[in-house]
Amino acid sequence: MIPRVLAAPAPGWTARTDVVVIGSGIAGLVAALRCRPYGRVLLVTKALLDAGSTRWAQGGIAAALAADDTPDDHLADTLTAGVGLCDEDAVRALVTEGPQAVRRLIALGAEFDRSADGGIALAREGGHHRSRIAHAGGDATGAEISRALLAALKDAGIEVIEHALVLDLLRDGAGRAAGITLHVMGEGQPGGVGAVRAGAVVLATGGLGQVFSATTNPEVSTGDGVALALRAGAEVADLEFVQFHPTVLWLGDGARGQQPLISEAVRGEGAHLVDRSGERFMPARHDLAELAPATSSRRGS
Ligand SMILES: Cc1cc2nc3c(=O)[nH]c(=O)nc-3n(C[C@H](O)[C@H](O)[C@H](O)COP(=O)(O)OP(=O)(O)OC[C@H]3O[C@@H](n4cnc5c(N)ncnc54)[C@H](O)[C@@H]3O)c2cc1C
Repeated sequence: MIPRVLAAPAPGWTARTDVVVIGSGIAGLVAALRCRPYGRVLLVTKALLDAGSTRWAQGGIAAALAADDTPDDHLADTLTAGVGLCDEDAVRALVTEGPQAVRRLIALGAEFDRSADGGIALAREGGHHRSRIAHAGGDATGAEISRALLAALKDAGIEVIEHALVLDLLRDGAGRAAGITLHVMGEGQPGGVGAVRAGAVVLATGGLGQVFSATTNPEVSTGDGVALALRAGAEVADLEFVQFHPTVLWLGDGARGQQPLISEAVRGEGAHLVDRSGERFMPARHDLAELAPATSSRRGS
């Protein structure tokens, strides 16, 4: 039986806003910026602003940006790579809105790598029949996006509370989301358990890779938003899909927590992985495109 709320002291302070956004990865930051023209936005995040998965993303973003590419082509490649597991409506939204979403990131200040003609440099990855991976700083795509979005957040005058662990959803008499309870710790202000009352709540708390003893997800990826939603009575889906970065430094059998990544750039430059006997078992990036549909549609992360 799932408890309806976490055990916590009664809120000692209350704040009010129009929209409260939980999480400061790409999802939370973009949501906060998009909501800002319509009212007051408060963004709360449980550690430092850049602590989520977003700054770890290396390879880049797949979007049909090239002149010879279309969202329909991207859709077809993704459905093939998804071997029947994709939600087609969700994929269609992703591939159709993707190019514009990348252009919006650029308009907000994200600097993607450019080709000699000044256009966005696009890499080709496994499962894609076109070059469609936009990247920044080589393999520092997520860090650049995070940098640009955090600068835009500051410029937009969005209020932020760091070290704010969101506990549960508050609901109104009709059962609708009406705010959150949270525990602000350490250097966060105001301190202790509090409540934020809001007209809308955006849950953008990222993934749950840390349920595994060894993972490539950061410390904050503990599935809090999914748990909160379950306690509030929401239906959740597809929890079995958890991403691991495909190349990691092996630290031995006792390794725990977030493991050190081996950069995507290593494979991008043509390296191959070998097992302990020295036998090659993963093809280099330029071979992966030939292996579709057996590979992921996204740049190996
Ligand atoms: C190593 C690695 C490499 C990757 N490479 C790629 C790639 O090349 N291309 C690609 O497209 N994707 C890649 N990804 C995936 C991509 O990074 C994520 O899909 C994306 O960043 C998720 O963004 P998000 O905003 O949903 O979550 P996150 O960026 O994880 O943000 C979640 C936020 O919620 C906050 N939070 C969590 N719980 C609470 C709580 N209880 N209270 C308050 N705040 C909370 C966290 O602190 C964090 O700020 C990679 C991921 C990893 C880990």
